[in-house]
Amino acid sequence: MARPIACLLRSCQRLPMQPKHASLELSARCPCGTVSISVRGPIYGMFLCCCSDCQLMSGAGHSAVAIAGRDQVQLEGEITQFSRPAASGATFTRHFCAKCGTTLLGGTSRRTDAALLPVGLFADQSWFEPNQVIFHRSHQKWDLLPDIPKYETYREGL
Ligand SMILES: [Zn+2]
Ligand SMILES: [Zn+2]
Repeated sequence: MARPIACLLRSCQRLPMQPKHASLELSARCPCGTVSISVRGPIYGMFLCCCSDCQLMSGAGHSAVAIAGRDQVQLEGEITQFSRPAASGATFTRHFCAKCGTTLLGGTSRRTDAALLPVGLFADQSWFEPNQVIFHRSHQKWDLLPDIPKYETYREGL
């Protein structure tokens, strides 16, 4: 059985990750051209997050996130990073272009082998099939969401 994403983000860091998608090859470059990212390998989770940090960073009602293995991701160019405490108690680190500020990658101290990819970075998003909304407690009414399970914070029961 596939392991729920909240588990990945939160408390079961010793369990192996279960691929949710066959291997992908993705690449993208930030608008100023300084940084490029390439991802090669399976995707382990896909979700939408309505937390207030995602709203702040994206300027939208939620972020769209895919999880890959950190060692499947390569970054080139000058990256800056910023860390803050996450609601889970972990430290969340955002890696972004030092020049134009585009987010390339997120990471959590709970799961250092996982890379949180902002889906909007990639021109081809046809592979993205989110299966849950997390942090629905801070969802904004105007932000229309697909008909998938919604959790107040992380998925319940974990
Ligand atoms: Zn969020
Ligand atoms: Zn840039």
